[in-house]
This record gives sequence, structure tokens and C-alpha cells, in this order.
Amino acid sequence: MEQIQNLINGRWVAAADGKTFEIRNPADRREILGHAPDSSAADVDAAVRAARAAYPAWAATPAPKRGEILYRAAELLVRHKTRLGIQVAREMGKVMPEALGDVQEAIDMTYYMAGEGRRLFGETVPSELPNKDAKSIRVPIGVFGLITPWNFPIAIPSWKITPALIAGNTVVLKPAEETPACAAQFVALFQEAGLPPGVVNLVCGFGAQVGEPLACHPEVDAVSFTGSHAVGARLAVLAAERHKPFMMETGGKNPIIVMDDANLDLAVSGALWGGFGTSGQRCTAASRLIVHEGIYDRFLARLIDGARRLKLGNGLDPASDVGPVVSAEQYQKVLDYIEIGRREGATLVYGGEAYREGTCAEGYFIQPTIFTDVQPSMRIAQEEIFGPVVCVLKTGSLSEAIRMANDSAFGLSAAIYTQNVNAAAIAERDLDAGLVYINASTIGAEVQMPFGGTRLTGLGPREAGGRGGALDLYTKWKVIYRDFSGKLQKAQIAS
Ligand code: NAD
Repeated sequence: MEQIQNLINGRWVAAADGKTFEIRNPADRREILGHAPDSSAADVDAAVRAARAAYPAWAATPAPKRGEILYRAAELLVRHKTRLGIQVAREMGKVMPEALGDVQEAIDMTYYMAGEGRRLFGETVPSELPNKDAKSIRVPIGVFGLITPWNFPIAIPSWKITPALIAGNTVVLKPAEETPACAAQFVALFQEAGLPPGVVNLVCGFGAQVGEPLACHPEVDAVSFTGSHAVGARLAVLAAERHKPFMMETGGKNPIIVMDDANLDLAVSGALWGGFGTSGQRCTAASRLIVHEGIYDRFLARLIDGARRLKLGNGLDPASDVGPVVSAEQYQKVLDYIEIGRREGATLVYGGEAYREGTCAEGYFIQPTIFTDVQPSMRIAQEEIFGPVVCVLKTGSLSEAIRMANDSAFGLSAAIYTQNVNAAAIAERDLDAGLVYINASTIGAEVQMPFGGTRLTGLGPREAGGRGGALDLYTKWKVIYRDFSGKLQKAQIAS
């Protein structure tokens, strides 16, 4: 059994008051995987102080040298990919191909951000005056508080740690309480890659006891949060009151539009993996299927058939397609939403029950669940369930489908299946979401592109690479004017 510890100033330590909490395997809740520090504000304070002390030297380290350490971390992630993938499968419940995908995302991000060490481009523009330069450069911000969810327990910490470090910041990571071992193993590889003590710190524990003190700590200069909208909205206020730069990426209620000319093989496969992959626990999960009446019956029959074929099981079993949901809390929440859908008058056409067959008897397994006759105003069509539940809505036209797709508080990801180039172009233009997919499901992102959503989903710069991506959060701009005319100010302005 694993004893997870906090990482503070390069040392692995227990919580100051020695408290711990249990981590259980969601595929078999009888199995205790380990214990993690149940930390408090005192541990947060120690970690923030370490990050503060490490900041000046790290910020002064040339960015290409910081990049070399990240590059070594990426190499270590490659070497330990299988071990980390197994940890993801055990602690969070993902099936192995998805667990390895989680690690691969972190590998890609770490290599990408390592390369940024040789870019971090600023801008030079012509000055209005002779013998004068005008340029702007990116500089680090200081100490970052990073708060992450459990559903991508390796990838999301990498989305935050690597851009923060390459830009010259130091960090304190507070991972989700469901997945502290993944976070500890991930951070350990960065230490092994040669980070100086205090540059990355890890404090495990719960939101109110660790997350909030971290976000509010006066020595934390900025905060990056991924998780539920309710928590993000609260942290946004706390950060604003303290004048801290803040970003959040939160929930989704992502639609797939299936038009009557769609390639049905692609559309059904996209709906199945988008809706039920990772047991529906992706922020980009396809939870609303908006299907044209011309192919509605055929699509639905194939969707149900596909759902029936999905094999539920332990993520470590190569035969499993879909694992458990992550925790007792999540299990109950998803079952409650299924009940809400029934009461709202939607028709349950497949699933709808906990799954307890064979080796699944002691895990948090829920059947892939499909509701039809869903009205856009129903709670199951509006609220993020974050489980293997999809709502099917019928549409008669592209314009109505796009209106339905945009009728959501969230705007993370949206997809359309069509073979009509004009319909695809209109959807691309009119779908209001951070990510739009044409003939592909709502899931799957590439690290060199910015990642995030509109409306209630996202606030502040996006995650990952590219224009508008993470470096806009983890750096601030400094503008420098250099006057080499040797003239008195007044004379220079007059010339
Ligand atoms: P959550 O909000 O419950 O927890 C996220 C993190 O915040 C955890 O580390 C938790 O301990 C911490 N936290 C909880 N209360 C806190 C508080 N009062 N102060 C500070 N920190 C606190 O979310 P979750 O259940 O871990 O994750 C699921 C959610 O994350 C879903 O809504 C999903 O859509 C979202 N998500 C979004 C993205 C994205 O990029 N848009 C990616 C993955 C997950």
C-alpha cells in the first residue's frame, strides 16, 4: 500500500499534523490503494514559502535551460508511461488505453513547453522616434497556486505545471483528493529531472482545507483552476478580491449534431466514445446528441446496439471498454440524474442502472445510459452530469440544431457530422464553443492548440499552446523603451 507524501522544498513530508486519508480503487471499493496527507493551511503555507524562496533563482535561470529540465522530465515520462498509466487506471478507473492517453497528453505537453524555452517570443516594433527602441517581453509572474480535478490526473497537472515553469514561475500544486498518487508520481519525475528544490511543490488534501487557503495565500501571485463551475466561480471572486490573475476551465454540456447526410458509422462511433468513453467523465464528453429526424431512427438503433456491446470492467482488464465512475459521490450523483431524467418525462431507452455483474459487483459501475424525448429545457439537457449518460434530441434543420447546441450555459466543445461542405462551414462559424469538431467527436485535443471554453466554461487565458494559450496566463508583458539618442527628453520629443 502506498504512503503518499507532500513535496515541500524538495523533500517528501507528511502533513504537519500527521493526518491522512484513504484512497480506494473505484473498480473495487474494498481495495485501499494507499493513504495521502490530509493537509491543512500550515502545509500550504510551508509550500508557498518554499516556492517563494525558490522563485528568484528559477526566474533568473535562462529559459532554454529551464526547457532542458522539462525535456528531461518528458523523457522520464516516456520511460515511466506504463507505470503511470496503471496508476491512473487503478486510482481513477480509466481503461488502460485511455489511461495511457492521459500520460501521453502530459508527455506531449512537456515536450511542447520544453521547446517554448527557446521561443517565448516577445515583440519589437518601430519607435515613433529616431534612435529609440520599443519592445515587449514576457516575464514570469511569481508563485502560482494550481488546483486540478481527478478526471485527467496526469494530463491536467502537466497543462498547468509545464507552462508555469518554462515561463519562470514556481508552483504549488493541489491535486484532486481522488487522485493524489498520480500527482505525486508525476511531480516526482520532475524532481528527478533536476528541478531545484521549491520550484514545484505538492500539497495533497481537500478543497476547503488546502485549495482555498492556497488560492487566498498572500504570497501566491496567481491561480489556475480546473474543476467544477461552482468551485471555480467561488475562487474567481476570492482571486478578484485579492487582485490575483486567475483562470478557470470548468464544465461542459457538449453537443454533437448529426445531420441526415452524415456518415452514420462515423457519427455513431463518435457519439459512443464521446458519450461513454472515460465513463462520460470528460469535460468534453458528448452528453447531448442532436439528431436530424431524417436519420433519427436508424441512428438511435445503432447507438443502442453500440452501447449494448460496450463491456464494463476494471480498467486494467484489456477486455474492458468502460471503467467505473470515480467515487461514491460521483456514483450517487449520476444515479440521481438518471432518476431526475425519468421524472422529467424523458424516455430511458437503454441502461439507467448501476452495473454489478461479476467482478464489477464492488465497483462504481453504471450502465451506459441513453435518454430520448429530451426537451432542451430539461435539467438532464442543461446540467453537467459527468457520467455515462447521453440525451438524444430530435431536430428538423441545421439552424434549429445549432440553436439547440448553443442553448447551454457551457461552451466547451461542439461537433457536427455532415458531408455537406456548406453545413460544415455554417456550423464552424455559428457553434459557440471553444472547440469545434467537424466529422469528429467532441473529445481529443492537441497540445499545440489553445484549449478552453466560452460562456460559463472558461475564464481567462486558455490552457495549452498556441495563440491565446497558457503562456498568456503564466507570463505578464513588460514594455521596454530604450533611448540611445543621447538627447535631452525635450529635444528628442521635438525631433
Ligand atoms: P471540483 O470542482 O469538485 O474539484 C476540483 C479541484 O478543486 C479539486 O482539487 C478540489 O479539491 C478543489 N476544490 C474543491 N473545493 C474547493 C474550494 N472551496 N476551494 C479551492 N479548491 C477546491 O471538480 P472535480 O469533481 O474534481 O472535477 C470535475 C469537474 O471538472 C467537471 O465539472 C469537469 O467538467 C471539470 N473539468 C473541466 C476541464 C476543462 O478543461 N474545462 C477539464 C477537466 C475537468
